[in-house]
Amino acid sequence: MRLDIRTDGAPEVLDVREVAGYLRGLLPIDAEVAGEVPWPRGGEWTERLAAIRVRDFSREMENSKESMPAEIAREAQAMGRAQKLQKDLGNVYEGFGLARLYLGLLKGGLVVTSRMVATWNPDDRRYHGRTIICHYPLVVVSTTGLVEAPAKPKEYYIKLFAHGRARGMGLSVPEGVEEELSREFAGRFLDYDDGRTTEVVKGYALQGTFYLLGLEPFCPDRRCRLYNAHTQEELLEAQMGGGLCERHRGVLDGMRRDRKL
Ligand SMILES: [Zn+2]
Repeated sequence: MRLDIRTDGAPEVLDVREVAGYLRGLLPIDAEVAGEVPWPRGGEWTERLAAIRVRDFSREMENSKESMPAEIAREAQAMGRAQKLQKDLGNVYEGFGLARLYLGLLKGGLVVTSRMVATWNPDDRRYHGRTIICHYPLVVVSTTGLVEAPAKPKEYYIKLFAHGRARGMGLSVPEGVEEELSREFAGRFLDYDDGRTTEVVKGYALQGTFYLLGLEPFCPDRRCRLYNAHTQEELLEAQMGGGLCERHRGVLDGMRRDRKL
C-alpha cells in the first residue's frame, strides 16, 4: 500500500519525514511525505473552510449553513498559513467536514494539520476537540488537537479557571498565565512547540494507518501506542514509552513476514 502523508500548516517542531520513516519501519507500506495540502487559490475553498468552522459548541451544525462575510474574510486571511491557526481556539473546524474538504483535493492518505478539529457528540450534545479524525480513505491528525483535546491534569484547570473567562473552546486569560502554568506543569502534558511532538504524532499516524488498512486502530492497553488516550497523562504514557503491546507487536511482525499488503 502507498500512504501519502501531507501537512496543512503543521508546526515547525514536527519532523514529518521521521514519522514516514517510523511507519515504513513498522509496516510493509510505502509511506511518503507528499508536501503541503494543495489548497487552490480562490474564494470557493475559502468559503468552504469558513462554512465548517464550529461557531457554537452547543449547537449541531447543518452542512448547508451559509457563512457570514466576516468569517470568509477571516478565512481568506488565514489561508495558506494554517500554522498561525494553532493556539487560536476561535479557529475550530468540524472534523469530518475538514476531511471531506481534503478529499476534494487528495485521493486519501494522512494529513497532519495544526487546524483544531472537533466533532459533535450526540450524548452530551456538544462539540468535543479531537486528536484524530478517521474518514476513509483519509485520516486527519491535528497537532493542536493533541495539545487541546486530551484533558490536562485537574490541578492545571483549577489554576487556569481561577484566572480566566470562557471563550469558545478555550479560555481568555491574562497574558503570561498560560506560560507560567506550562512551566509549573512541565512534562505533564504535550504543549505547543513541544520537542515530543514528532514522537506523539508517530503513534497517531500509526493509529490512522491501522484504520486505513481496515484494522482496529485503538488498543485498550495504556502502554500501547494505539491506546486511545483521554487525558494528557495517558497520551504521554502511551506515546513516550515508545512501544506497542505484545499483541500488536505480534500483528506487525506477522504483517512484515507476510508482506501481503
Ligand atoms: Zn496494543
